[in-house]
Amino acid sequence: MAASRALGTFRLPPLPTIREIIKLFKLQAAKQLSQNFLLDLRLTDKIVKKAGNLTNAYVYEVGPGPGGITRSILNAGIAELLVVEKDSRFLPGLQMLSDAAPGKLRIVHGDVLTFKVERAFPESLKRQWEDDPPNVHIIGNLPFNVSTPLIIKWLENVSQRDGPFAYGRTQMTLTFQKEVAERLAASTGSKQRSRLSVMAQYLCHVQHVFTIPGRAFVPKPEVDVGVVHFTPLMQPRIEQPFQLVEKVVQNVFQFRRKYCHRGLGMLFPEAQRLERTGRLLQLADVDPTLRPRQLSVSHFKSLCDVYRRMCDEDPHLFAYNFREELRNHKRPGQDKEAGRESL
Ligand code: SAM
Repeated sequence: MAASRALGTFRLPPLPTIREIIKLFKLQAAKQLSQNFLLDLRLTDKIVKKAGNLTNAYVYEVGPGPGGITRSILNAGIAELLVVEKDSRFLPGLQMLSDAAPGKLRIVHGDVLTFKVERAFPESLKRQWEDDPPNVHIIGNLPFNVSTPLIIKWLENVSQRDGPFAYGRTQMTLTFQKEVAERLAASTGSKQRSRLSVMAQYLCHVQHVFTIPGRAFVPKPEVDVGVVHFTPLMQPRIEQPFQLVEKVVQNVFQFRRKYCHRGLGMLFPEAQRLERTGRLLQLADVDPTLRPRQLSVSHFKSLCDVYRRMCDEDPHLFAYNFREELRNHKRPGQDKEAGRESL
């Protein structure tokens, strides 16, 4: 008890400001690495607050850079903070923080896309999936070109309950380009509804918690930034393999302005397209004239369940790729519209 109270009351001693650290260690942002730093500790405190109660928590921070968010995490009463940073220029500044918080900050010079966090924290932290989330949190402000592939990878990990989710329903608080944050949290029918909305929301409770104006970063990015909080759901809303859900969702959204039957049709070889698309929609009880953005997660659940049955009946179906068929038929132009939508 006394130990946990002591952990909860730790505060960093007075330190040079982040701006001074940047100067001291000559940490000019590398434009090609999309580095944009947060210097305002009230903002970094706000991000960390949105992660939830971090008392005695084990936190994994991705891309700490000069350490603004890192400081706020260290002041939040955590048990241990592990940071993974790719750019070695930041290591001395982070080491200074580690010296100021003895035994609390572990620094790894590495890549978050390959780092195995499932081996980094004590086994005793693991919880059953159905329990409350473990006291393990992921927090990060990464470059946009890393955060989007990373969230797709982590959503797949959620579906398989491995990677960071080997501990249970690990919560994540991450930044994205504002438009991506809006897509992640977009509800059925909204303009931002996209493939990312469905992939994130069938596995997690997703909240776009607040927006940080671009001007708060140094250097200022071209766009505003959204902070998104994810809590994996006890029961995924679609109980099919991640790749199968991804295939159905991707096919639907590649023709985002058409009726949904158009994209769904591309799941089937041309010769049987009409008949099998009709059967899929009928068995799933989905109106073929709904637009992709009007489809709810339960619509996708029905579609994925029926498509799974069709794949079980026809072992070649899942591997079918309409682009390959088009290429083989050499009919250029037919899929002009397909694949236009970004994530
Ligand atoms: N978190 C700091 C902040 O908010 O001021 C820095 C943010 S900056 C946008 C992104 C940081 O992530 C940089 O320090 C960059 O070097 C680091 N980074 C980029 N890609 C990474 C990767 N694949 N693995 C680990 N760190 C990475």
